[in-house]
Amino acid sequence: MSYKDISYSLKKSNRKTISIFIERDGSVSILAPAPYQLEKIEQVIEAKRSWIYRNLAEWEDLNRTQLQREFVNGEGFVYLGRSYRLSLEEKQNTDLLLKRGRFLLRRDKIHKGADIFKAFYKQKGLKKINERIALYAPKIGVKVNKVKVLELQNRWGSCSDNGNLNFHWKCLMAPVSVLDYIVVHELVHLLYRNHDNNFWNAVDKVMPDYAKHVKWLKHNGADMNL
Ligand SMILES: [Zn+2]
Repeated sequence: MSYKDISYSLKKSNRKTISIFIERDGSVSILAPAPYQLEKIEQVIEAKRSWIYRNLAEWEDLNRTQLQREFVNGEGFVYLGRSYRLSLEEKQNTDLLLKRGRFLLRRDKIHKGADIFKAFYKQKGLKKINERIALYAPKIGVKVNKVKVLELQNRWGSCSDNGNLNFHWKCLMAPVSVLDYIVVHELVHLLYRNHDNNFWNAVDKVMPDYAKHVKWLKHNGADMNL
């Protein structure tokens, strides 16, 4: 059933009061006394609207961070913004391959699945990121020293004074356009250390639609996980 934009399931019983709660799967349940008419139930939903929204948002936050991918046939794994189904292989020389639109993982290695995927992102990712740097560094007018893809604390990228750039392996889950923004962001830091007007103007010059990518990262960043 639904009332305006809130869908819910309704159970009636011989209870005396109405109660609304969020189920473990994130759906809204309403328990109501048997004699309650739909109109009365909808009045209660209306009165509790902000409570429902708040609790749904809370549920989403909680479950977003708990999202865990499993190393089973058919599970989706993301590379450069596209989801590829996992296929467990009995015989394969390499631990992990991205081939024919699927991630092929050796079945006897699934206990190390997360490490194998991280290694894939780091290795493949380094090549990809170097490719994007080669495209943008000349436009920005900077020279890059060493590039690494690794696990960073709470950030997508970092840079050092001597022109070294680091990128989180999770960046490789983002679409190329967003990856490009992360690359441009770090490249521009080689010119301007802080996020001041000079910095954002320089980003804007090579990537006028960068705000879109900032927004994408804000909304999807938590999902970029194994
Ligand atoms: Zn920055």
